[in-house]
Amino acid sequence: MTSTAPPGPAPASPPATTAQPVIRARGVSMAYGGTDVLHGIDLAIHRGEVFALLGPNGAGKTTTVEILEGFRRRSAGEVSVLGADPERGDDAWRGRIGLVLQSWRDHRRWRVGELLSHFATYYPEPRDPAALLAMVGLTGHADQQVDRLSGGQRRRLDVALGIVGRPELLFLDEPTTGFDPEARHEFHLLVERLARDEGVTVLLTTHDLVEAERLADRIAMLVGGRIRACGSPAELARRAAARAEVRWTADDGTTRRERTADPSRLVWELHRDADGPIAGLEVRRPTLEDTYLHMVHREDDAPAPEHPDGTDGAVGAEARAA
Ligand code: ADP
Repeated sequence: MTSTAPPGPAPASPPATTAQPVIRARGVSMAYGGTDVLHGIDLAIHRGEVFALLGPNGAGKTTTVEILEGFRRRSAGEVSVLGADPERGDDAWRGRIGLVLQSWRDHRRWRVGELLSHFATYYPEPRDPAALLAMVGLTGHADQQVDRLSGGQRRRLDVALGIVGRPELLFLDEPTTGFDPEARHEFHLLVERLARDEGVTVLLTTHDLVEAERLADRIAMLVGGRIRACGSPAELARRAAARAEVRWTADDGTTRRERTADPSRLVWELHRDADGPIAGLEVRRPTLEDTYLHMVHREDDAPAPEHPDGTDGAVGAEARAA
């Protein structure tokens, strides 16, 4: 479903910029029936930040975002979004938020331009529909019926509908699913522009690490309902590479592997203790992708949070990227 925030008066003037995070979550947990799916999520997301919640299917991304959007009641924890508890957000609060949800169902018979103009009437200071069409690369499609658009074009229309009311905070759920590479590139530029030029805060969910690395100022890796790591892409990559894996073939023919922060010392020790050359010696620095896949594949048998650098990911989620 495409959805903007339900109609409601947006504040006449934008709120004063403060150091308060736009989104703050502390110890947020969620249980469906008797099953816990979120286990104490901590987040602090700041104005103008593009923040990616990255995780595999079933990790709890949608649940987290629905709690932040005010569509779902949390089981425990504290949440503040644009200064309000989402469970008590009023129309004025909703008017400051843009939503681009996952699946698209409504308004198939509308023409693109009409639909945008219609949604624009919900807001006191909407974007100009024609300018918006240009912004999302749909100029020339204004008269087209919505159900005749390609998947990528519809997604861009979704985004246009999400930002027509000039939201301060934009939620993007799996935004580029079905995009071809060019549409994806255009979309990334659009998100960058919204954050950089207009100070829009963007929270996007994705299962695509490459997209998260490309777009986000910070990434929180959510696996099994826990944030396992959080930081800028560069920080996370640095942490991932901090411990190299050394592999070699032992005298009995078995492959040995050891992870170490000091691979040259380990290799030196292996040489010192060996009679001759070390068979099958390999030193490898894990990439961020290696670390992520490792977390994802271990989620069922690793209940305790694990972080690439051994630090508490929840603390990382609180810290703002430098
Ligand atoms: P993601 O968005 O990362 O794919 P979700 O938040 O949709 O993850 O789901 C997290 C977990 O919660 C999954 O195990 C899912 O099956 C379960 N879940 C989601 N919604 C419901 C619901 N309404 N009732 C029961 N379980 C649910």
